[in-house]
Amino acid sequence: MARQVFAIQPLPGREMCDFCCGASPTARLYACRNFIIPRTKHAVFQHESIGAWAVCDRCAVLIEAGHWSQLTDRAFRRFCKKHGVSRYEEFEVREQLREIHQLFKEHMIKEA
Ligand SMILES: [Zn+2]
Repeated sequence: MARQVFAIQPLPGREMCDFCCGASPTARLYACRNFIIPRTKHAVFQHESIGAWAVCDRCAVLIEAGHWSQLTDRAFRRFCKKHGVSRYEEFEVREQLREIHQLFKEHMIKEA
């Protein structure tokens, strides 16, 4: 079965939130060291996460507060709405988002 390719990773020049893919204008940029998106061996995507992540107001609040699971929930809900994720795929998609957010957390460059 050919897998649908999900574009979770940030794309250069995109003007929407890299977490929730929301229509809300991005309010902040978070510098982040590069990391490899997990589970690429399943060929869902092979992509390096590069540079700054654009983040909307609401997601920025969650990041600042360290509410990572809420951030993942929010991103997951928005992602499902946008891409029409089936029940069968829900778990995997949510896990991917969670892993990506965890990696972002580990690689983000905190402002002095
Ligand atoms: Zn957002």
